[in-house]
Amino acid sequence: MSLTISFMESLLVITNTFGFIAIIAIVVGIVFSKKQQTSEGLIKAIQFATWKHRDQKRKSIGDIPYIIHPIRVCQILIENGCGYNLPLLQAALLHDTVEDTDTTLDEIDDIFGVIVKRLIEEVSDNKSLPKEQRKRLQILNAEDKSHDAKLLSIADKIANLEDLSSGPRGIPIGWTIKRVQDYFMWAKRVHKGLRGQNKRLDKCFNAIIKGQFEYFDGNNYPKIDE
Ligand code: ZN
Repeated sequence: MSLTISFMESLLVITNTFGFIAIIAIVVGIVFSKKQQTSEGLIKAIQFATWKHRDQKRKSIGDIPYIIHPIRVCQILIENGCGYNLPLLQAALLHDTVEDTDTTLDEIDDIFGVIVKRLIEEVSDNKSLPKEQRKRLQILNAEDKSHDAKLLSIADKIANLEDLSSGPRGIPIGWTIKRVQDYFMWAKRVHKGLRGQNKRLDKCFNAIIKGQFEYFDGNNYPKIDE
């Protein structure tokens, strides 16, 4: 009898152990296949964006390839806890392709799917409008954007503000001190409608909006004229 119980107990332990191992194996499998999908999805977006921006450079001093900017936007999202959201990261890498290259939204839809397409649609300006109107619309429309579009827009602004703060190599050629300060003030107004989605991103934005930026002459100037 005791032998039977011990056998039954052993069987139960083995079954439980194997059941547990099976569950762990399934979870690990899901995590790895998810990681694999994320890596493949990111590489696909980097490859597409690099090709589309292949002839473009940043507007600042030096031959800095444009693709540096969308990669930095994607990195800011990952650094602030959005690394799990593949469509958002892909949209970050692709966010300027429709606005600044021959890429169409249909092309994005075909290759990356409708979620990425919608996100890019939300963060792309209408280039047929005058620049000042486009900037006004960004302030007016910020609050109505989706959660992910808000995250992407904040990360985009942070990347641009980082460039402007970084000294001569990050400031577009021909920009005056006032123009840099105006950009900071405008970004702050847009952020008012975008904030409240991700504390870390907001903190990152607020940190960069305060303080000084270094201009071409090596002097420091206030970012906000107030
Ligand atoms: Zn951008």
